[in-house]
Amino acid sequence: GAKVAAKAKEEGKEPQQFVNEIAAKYQAAWQNLNINYDRFVRTSEENHLKAVQTALQYMYNKGDIYQGRYEGLYCRGCEQFKSERDLIDGKCADHGTVPEKMSEDCYMFKLSKYQKKILAKIKSGEFKILPQEKKNEIIAFYEKEGLNDIAFSRKNVSWGIPLPWDKAQTAYVWADAFLNYLTGLGWDGSNPPTPLSKGGAGGLKFWPPSVQLMSKDILRVHATIWPAMLLSLELPLPQALFIHGFLLVDSKKMSKSLGNVIKPEEMIKRYGVDGTRYLLIRATPFGNDGDISWNKFDEKYNADLANGLGNLVARVSNLLEKNQIATDLSGEINKKLNKKAGQALADFRPDLVLSDLWLVLKKGDEKISQEKPWQMEDKNKIKKVLQPIAQDILDAAKILEAFLPQTAEKIIKQFSQKIIKKEAGLFPRI
Ligand SMILES: [Zn+2]
Repeated sequence: GAKVAAKAKEEGKEPQQFVNEIAAKYQAAWQNLNINYDRFVRTSEENHLKAVQTALQYMYNKGDIYQGRYEGLYCRGCEQFKSERDLIDGKCADHGTVPEKMSEDCYMFKLSKYQKKILAKIKSGEFKILPQEKKNEIIAFYEKEGLNDIAFSRKNVSWGIPLPWDKAQTAYVWADAFLNYLTGLGWDGSNPPTPLSKGGAGGLKFWPPSVQLMSKDILRVHATIWPAMLLSLELPLPQALFIHGFLLVDSKKMSKSLGNVIKPEEMIKRYGVDGTRYLLIRATPFGNDGDISWNKFDEKYNADLANGLGNLVARVSNLLEKNQIATDLSGEINKKLNKKAGQALADFRPDLVLSDLWLVLKKGDEKISQEKPWQMEDKNKIKKVLQPIAQDILDAAKILEAFLPQTAEKIIKQFSQKIIKKEAGLFPRI
């Protein structure tokens, strides 16, 4: 879209080089954070381009895209059309810039046609929007402002997908970008999707998804244009959208100009990969904005990881080794803990999974402090105190595997020995 073309020019780069560099940065961040994915989709891929053209042609043929003229306001930063109501002192609330007045011949998408249908699906919960306050926000938008037809193409934009029936026009950035959710699954744009048996891209086996996760600044387009496109293409809507907030630093958005950006790679240097993953997940009840800072991270890291988990593992393993106590721990997953974690994840609350586990660890810590096994002589008595705590640690580590994989693996290995030995500290104090 126009935004990429303009930014690339600012940096004196060709758009393709510019987007290659950005994609590489994202891929490096996932790799550094030990996050895997099945597929990294780029909308500059050839099969995506062809599928978008096929899909838009389908929508054009059925009359959902028509020739028109757009006159109104457009924020390049948001890549979204704005109504007066969206602006604060005439400026975009997110970007603080005055949106440009657009007036040009273009193709329009008949968004208004789908207003009633989508609103009904949102209200009935067939198309869930979570958390609840985001659902309320979107319903209010539908009821107060409603859906107006929108420009779906622009003239003379060098970076974008040309409309197949009018190559002087390129597809509106979202018209192109949304479809990556389908092309990433192998969809070729045909409708209905050609079955694999007939040489097509398959019946979109993984569509619709149980949830699409996204941040709050792109909620509105995902709750309006995206479902309308799916309805136009006669494809099912995702079962749910889960909307997450921003990580703020001292209640402010991170920005280069404020100089308050906390970079993941700097966090990894300070806290390690698992430490960073822990701190980011625990930063806020998932869905809300989180207020983060280096001070808060340092405190939380020392309290929960250097003390907390790290200290408990060290204390228990040290006492077991010193007294040469053989434990017999169960290697089975703890059903009660597992069920609780499963429920928290079903509610989109990974932070709760961790806080629940840390309650278990805290109890172990308190028990040791009360019973003072280091003052005991009788090995059986020491074992009676330590074995249940060692079991709790092992149980917690099994659930931690999905969250802090390297740490969990170390603990599981350590606590699966007959005689548990002390190992190097997990999280050095800061
Ligand atoms: Zn904006």
